[in-house]
Amino acid sequence: MDYRSETTETIRNKCAACFRQFNRKDHLVEHMKISHHSRHEPMCGICKKHCRSFESLREHLIGPLPKQECKNIFSILGCRFCLTILDNSNSRRAHEGRCQFSGVNAGLLARLANLGIHDKLSIDSGRTRGPQVVALACKMVGGGSDGSLDLCARVCIIDEYENIIFHTYVKPPIPVTNYRYETTGIRPEYLREAMPLRQVQKRIQEFLCNGEPMWKIRPKGSKARILVGHGLNHDLDRLQVDYPAMMIRDTAQYPPLMKTSKLSNSLKYLTQAYLGYDIQIGIQDPYEDCVATMRLYMRMRAQNHVKQDHTLANNFDLYRQSELERMSPEELLEISRSDYYCWCLDS
Ligand SMILES: [Zn+2]
Ligand SMILES: [Zn+2]
Ligand SMILES: [Zn+2]
Ligand SMILES: [Zn+2]
Repeated sequence: MDYRSETTETIRNKCAACFRQFNRKDHLVEHMKISHHSRHEPMCGICKKHCRSFESLREHLIGPLPKQECKNIFSILGCRFCLTILDNSNSRRAHEGRCQFSGVNAGLLARLANLGIHDKLSIDSGRTRGPQVVALACKMVGGGSDGSLDLCARVCIIDEYENIIFHTYVKPPIPVTNYRYETTGIRPEYLREAMPLRQVQKRIQEFLCNGEPMWKIRPKGSKARILVGHGLNHDLDRLQVDYPAMMIRDTAQYPPLMKTSKLSNSLKYLTQAYLGYDIQIGIQDPYEDCVATMRLYMRMRAQNHVKQDHTLANNFDLYRQSELERMSPEELLEISRSDYYCWCLDS
């Protein structure tokens, strides 16, 4: 085999998504079967390489170990928040201005804190359709002998336009042993007369299901709401609310927003990196967390991916091994499917 044919052979066995090269075609086929590459993966706008997460795309474009050609173009035409490539530096400037958010108005937060209960939870009846996507966040105080048991003491729910639907202090069912004042700003007197957890749980549960019995909830076409948040399993557990996983959009569990190590990023980091502002400085308000998670969700939902029918199973089982080995890398990518639900499919 001369040098040229060897090179052609390697190119033929190059993954069309992550560009890994294999000596043998069956190795590429094996790689495709377990990689779950798809049109939904974060992709470099320059060389079209697919990445598992935006963090690995950021490494590819910015560093610490960037691909030099992509880095050079990105530094002129790339948006540092959503990592897309624009046509020219003017459109880049305009785009970045829209892509970067500013923080939630601190004065508004202070006013909210004095509002006490803010309750617009309602079940849609008949033709009036309420918000279909809502974000929820809690702030926890400490219970138990050492104060390490999280107890929900504040909860906020907003709609997709960042309007507050529900915002209240919560009276925990067991004594609070640590108010965590430096971050929560919560004093004993705020919780003494607050809405009891049991009542909060019931209101939220009914609001989310929106008149739909739990067993009837489907991802599409049911009245139940899509719930956005960060680390929602913990929040829902503390609120004692049950909600089906298929209705949950968790920015801590969404693969494109997770670390390369497959651990969750903090909401503070995600907001800084993708929305361009700081949160959770000093006393924290759950409204601020709701807004950040909703903005992240909206950005992920707005991604312009080629629509593929969504199944969580690869199509590889439908083909014989010999057929797969005759396919080009592009054809193999075409039949490959994502192993997570991409939020662009909600739009
Ligand atoms: Zn690959
Ligand atoms: Zn997608
Ligand atoms: Zn690239
Ligand atoms: Zn952008």
